[in-house]
Amino acid sequence: MGVLALQGDFREHLAVLTALGAEAVPVRRATELDDIDGLVIPGGESSVMDKLSRMFDVADPLREAIASGMPVYGTCAGLIMLADRIVDGISGQQSLGGLDVSVRRNAFGSQTDSFETDVDVPVIGEPPVHAVFIRAPVVDEVGPAATAIGVLDDGRVVAVEQGNLMGTSFHPEVTNDYRFHAYFLDKARAWASR
Ligand code: GLN
Repeated sequence: MGVLALQGDFREHLAVLTALGAEAVPVRRATELDDIDGLVIPGGESSVMDKLSRMFDVADPLREAIASGMPVYGTCAGLIMLADRIVDGISGQQSLGGLDVSVRRNAFGSQTDSFETDVDVPVIGEPPVHAVFIRAPVVDEVGPAATAIGVLDDGRVVAVEQGNLMGTSFHPEVTNDYRFHAYFLDKARAWASR
């Protein structure tokens, strides 16, 4: 399993995947994509991650890996990177795309920059996921190819899935609930044995 390690909280993801028994490696170069069966894109700052991914010539290879069907899970900034459409990216900001969604960055406003709440995610099961939001994006629009798998009480979508792609506005890697990563590892195992 790879974790994109250009920027952000990649160490936390590496620790969770390792705790779940996966061989987890940081990914910074395009050639490292050949050795993995799935990739996590961590939280951080999507505009910086975008710039670095282009600077290190890893953005287009990542797009190819996504198009090939490799499982990819993005948390927070990683969700923004996976979104086909960014509603309010900074000037020139690009995403990798893959998820048929529109995301709005920093959608919860300055007063509630960071908060925690429980979210029902039926594909993950009971109990609800304790979700930590840190300057989090929200999914404004879910296109026909994607599915909302986590919705707040007020109707805002904070977790989506589309085949082998997943994205959450929140950060399971900073909690001790590893069910999202375990669910993702199942996709990666299925992909590896294809
Ligand atoms: N607000 C950040 C962004 O736009 C995301 C924050 C996070 O990943 N915790 O990329």
